[in-house]
Amino acid sequence: DLAGKRALVTGGASGIGLACAQEFAARGAHVIIADFNAEAANAAAAELGGEAWVADLADTAALDTLELDIDILVNNAGIQRVSPIEDFDPDAFRLILRLMLESPFLLIRAALPKMYERGWGRIVNISSAHGLRASAYKSAYVSAKHGLEGLSKVTALEGGAHGVTSNCINPAYVRTPLVEKQITDQAKVHGIPESEVVEKIMLTETAVKRLVEADEVASLAGWLVSDKAGMVTGASYTMDGGWTAR
Ligand code: NAD
Repeated sequence: DLAGKRALVTGGASGIGLACAQEFAARGAHVIIADFNAEAANAAAAELGGEAWVADLADTAALDTLELDIDILVNNAGIQRVSPIEDFDPDAFRLILRLMLESPFLLIRAALPKMYERGWGRIVNISSAHGLRASAYKSAYVSAKHGLEGLSKVTALEGGAHGVTSNCINPAYVRTPLVEKQITDQAKVHGIPESEVVEKIMLTETAVKRLVEADEVASLAGWLVSDKAGMVTGASYTMDGGWTAR
């Protein structure tokens, strides 16, 4: 049902982004994998019969004049840094804000004119439980995700009259390379062994005691970009095992 649609997925070479690209491609979309990991982006594009756009999306000045001809945009590229505020590297804070808030703004800005022209568009912002709740030691990430929630809602209000929807997906911890890399840092900052991080830190708030799988997130993204979801906009859909029910 996505035949003829062009879908751009940032960070599409790994984890949740790759799962979204696979979901869209399986339904006939032409996928554009935007990622700075050239090798992985090219491999994913080849596997899915799409194209790779190799770019550092934190280099936001380069996106100021961009024009995109796409029907679906998934703002997904993201990184994590875990450190108390007083030790938090200011450059890491700025990098996270650029990649995870400024760049989504610039990509939405670049995509809307063509979406408005066609009277149809779907924007899916991969936020997080941390778009709705805070955790210690994640000042940049939590700030960026809370900002993304606001950007998504404003996009929904402006896009509504043009057939363009914008929504957030808010997963708890998903089994991806991003989370696997974080285990070492979490162990250090909380002073516990790495083997205890998943249970003691990552699953404390959830009622369902397991990690989310990337293809579960992609199935929700797949529904949000369908025609049936045309009345769904400005929303934030949790897939967090009950975390934010608290
Ligand atoms: P991941 O590390 O598996 O994939 C992220 C991708 O983004 C990688 O392919 C990487 O190369 C790319 N990327 C990173 N920096 C980039 C840059 N500057 N320019 C271009 N590409 C860049 O991560 P993931 O776990 O799949 O996370 C994807 C999104 O989901 C992120 O926004 C993350 O915050 C969000 N999220 C993840 C989890 C989780 O537990 N994994 C939970 C909630 C939300």
